[in-house]
Amino acid sequence: MLRTHTCGELRIQHQNEKVTLCGWVQRSRDLGGMTFIDLRDRYGITQLMFNMETHKELCEQARNLGREFVISVTGSVAERSNKNLKMPTGEIEIIVENIEVLNTSLLPPFTIEDNTDGGDEIRMKYRYLDLRRTTVKNNIELRHRMAIETRNYLNTLNFLEIETPFLIKSTPEGARDFVVPSRMNQGEFYALPQSPQTFKQLLMVSGFDRYFQIVRCFRDEDLRADRQPEFTQIDCEMSFVTQEDILQTFEGLALHLFKTVKGVELNKFDRITYADAMKFYGSDKPDLRFGMKFVELKSEGEKNLTAGKNFVVFDNAEYVGGICAQSCSEYTRKQLDELTDFIKKPQIGATGLIWMKYNQDGTLKSSVDKFYAEEDLKQWAAAFDAKPGDLILLIAGDTHKSRKALSELRLEMASRLGFRNPEVFAPLWVLDFPLLEFDAESNRFYAMHHPFTSPKPEDIALLDTNPAAVRANAYDLVINGVEIGGGSIRIHNKELQHKMFQVLGFTEELAQSQFGFLMNAFEFGAPPHGGVAFGFDRWCSLFGGSETIRDFIAFPKNNTGRDVMVDAPSTISEEQLKELNIKLV
Ligand code: ASP
Repeated sequence: MLRTHTCGELRIQHQNEKVTLCGWVQRSRDLGGMTFIDLRDRYGITQLMFNMETHKELCEQARNLGREFVISVTGSVAERSNKNLKMPTGEIEIIVENIEVLNTSLLPPFTIEDNTDGGDEIRMKYRYLDLRRTTVKNNIELRHRMAIETRNYLNTLNFLEIETPFLIKSTPEGARDFVVPSRMNQGEFYALPQSPQTFKQLLMVSGFDRYFQIVRCFRDEDLRADRQPEFTQIDCEMSFVTQEDILQTFEGLALHLFKTVKGVELNKFDRITYADAMKFYGSDKPDLRFGMKFVELKSEGEKNLTAGKNFVVFDNAEYVGGICAQSCSEYTRKQLDELTDFIKKPQIGATGLIWMKYNQDGTLKSSVDKFYAEEDLKQWAAAFDAKPGDLILLIAGDTHKSRKALSELRLEMASRLGFRNPEVFAPLWVLDFPLLEFDAESNRFYAMHHPFTSPKPEDIALLDTNPAAVRANAYDLVINGVEIGGGSIRIHNKELQHKMFQVLGFTEELAQSQFGFLMNAFEFGAPPHGGVAFGFDRWCSLFGGSETIRDFIAFPKNNTGRDVMVDAPSTISEEQLKELNIKLV
């Protein structure tokens, strides 16, 4: 080894030891008679000390070192006179006796510090330098620990890690595929897998019974902060299990990761049906770190606390519902206007906000006082279980749209009230998703999860009469409003799979040409099976307290899907195109 210790290792107990360290020059300071250098490696920073009086030449050599030069130094460990107890190595420094420059460096385009002066684009271009920064490096270390602990846990439960191919067949369901032209089979294309779904099911047919893989998946979708064209899943499948077995097994994985990686002990996870999640939180991934459950003042077939007062907005609405924001009755006109503007933004799309203040002195005041007397408002307050000092915010209109808007408002209020602490964790399982989703544009049903998801046995008959009402044996794991994973019990019966394709509008031929291999496999003794996949990057970013998965991927793409460091995607040569028999139009 070129070093005896790392830059994060030395403590006061090492005093007087002779050591050799290697690392990058983070910063140097000249204080007349002395020069100090912070030497950095993956493990930390150690202060080097050069004394002008006793080691003039060495000191001058140190003063000529540029930022990010790679050096090796030998010297003895000494107690610092000016200790920095915030740093693990802050009690000591190295009195350097020899420096060797292992490599020089150009001036880095941004400072390699926690608070860097570099913008996003430049840091992406020089990602290898960004990765030297402690914050980014810590994220990559966290990711490693997550992967190791996932393997440890699943290994103890007899799961086998099995690789599945990257060059597979394109299928039109789900997101758009990335495709790869085949040189040996001209005019034909592979697709990169959006997930190993069909392969893991085939592994169950093979009898492997418990499979997992920490695997790259590819989806050609528009990007957002929590999406990358290539991302990683913890992909799992089990045979001879019920939904309950799967929930228990993977709740166990989550608890293990929380404990070993985050040092957090959690209780049993909450569970909620999809229907309730939509009714009470307007979202299939509710953030349950806080309450603010929706209360309906008017809903189809249920009560109506708004009727008979000639307020047309409520009278014409299918739904009137809202949230109660605790201790917000003192909100000013300006703050209420801000909230109104917020929910009227085109991405949220509500038409207006109605408010009611339950003042500290017990009086009630609303933006619809013209229509509703204090007696009516009292009923509203009771429905919300509101207390003096609370503010009720209401939205009216189409049920689905109003709930969605309320969901955004609920999150906005929670942020304002400081209820979204990234170090508090509220995991829950969302159960009983609808099997199908109707798309008005193409006038057909799509599988909400994927076409291999099993309907709940008691709902199978509805496939013929009311497909939209069929619930699936499907579940999502949601933590703090983030969908961390999802899965389902699969269809393992050929007839039911046929039926499913039929409902999805596949002709017999299309189903055969696309999924024939799976349906054929199911003729050879497919066991009952089910599984789940977790968004590994998302889970890492959740643990790291960030919303940007990019920060947890060593070499991510930017938000137009480019790798600006290697400059991809890029054109290919005429020769390559010719070889592939591809003509660009
Ligand atoms: N393959 C599914 C997905 O990527 C997960 C699963 O059903 O296991 O969403």
